[in-house]
Amino acid sequence: MEPAEEDHQATPTSTVMAALATLSPPQLSALTGSVLADLHRHHRRVSALLSSPSLFSLALRHLLSLPLPLKSLLIARHLLSSLRLLTRHLPLPALPSHAPPERRRDRDAATLLLLLCELRHRDPRALEDAAPSGWRSVLQQHCSKDLLSIAGIGAFSGGILVPYVEMVVRCRTFVRAVERCLEAGEGRPQVAASPAAVVALPSVEAAGGGECAVCREGMEGGRDVCELPCRHSFHWMCILPWVRKTNTCPCCRFELPTDDVFAEIRRLWDALTKIGRSGSDDAMSTWSPSDCRTHAFVR
Ligand SMILES: [Zn+2]
Ligand SMILES: [Zn+2]
Repeated sequence: MEPAEEDHQATPTSTVMAALATLSPPQLSALTGSVLADLHRHHRRVSALLSSPSLFSLALRHLLSLPLPLKSLLIARHLLSSLRLLTRHLPLPALPSHAPPERRRDRDAATLLLLLCELRHRDPRALEDAAPSGWRSVLQQHCSKDLLSIAGIGAFSGGILVPYVEMVVRCRTFVRAVERCLEAGEGRPQVAASPAAVVALPSVEAAGGGECAVCREGMEGGRDVCELPCRHSFHWMCILPWVRKTNTCPCCRFELPTDDVFAEIRRLWDALTKIGRSGSDDAMSTWSPSDCRTHAFVR
């Protein structure tokens, strides 16, 4: 079941497909190119992992030592980087966020975890009778067909985008399932906006003389004012403490990028859903003034 804030009619697959349908042919072919490059990188890692018994057993030992929330984080990072392949072609405000570099052993463990999930999806009983020491050869058999066919599938975009959509949806299902276990009924936690995104916000002239929604004072008189991508503006001195606590606009809850992997997935997924639903060329049109409601935190 999908969370309450999402469209009850939409499955994750239809959400991704609807967002894909808004892309122009050049955007679609750019996406296909980046998905293909990503897939080649992934297959190089798979080959390296499966051809080296010592690398494989190191990765497996590391993976088995991780508690479920950290396994979920590995998959979440993979999902986030896959989602970004798509969302960078969508009309979203170009604000940066910062992802810490992935450690080699985490990357290998993530590659292995993805392989195991894939195997379980295709053949749930494949590892039933095998001891962990035999998993490498089971995975080798399972992957050999994929590794041989990868070279030939770039010519047809559907051939590459269908497994991409399936992978995004499967990773998201996994991440949502773990999140639901951890949240235990609590709402979305507040997360700070990415400092990189905040630094990239533009300063603007407060020509209109409107009111800052945080301090309720006017924005004329030469006080420094910044504008969020939703076009709401605030005194810099008012918005900075705000975005250190939460990544949402005080007026309309527009979300700035965050450095939190899970929150960033939710933000991009929400944007994907809105864009797919409106089929609009302009994501910002979904942030019309009628959307604006004063945030509960505003005095
Ligand atoms: Zn203010
Ligand atoms: Zn706003």
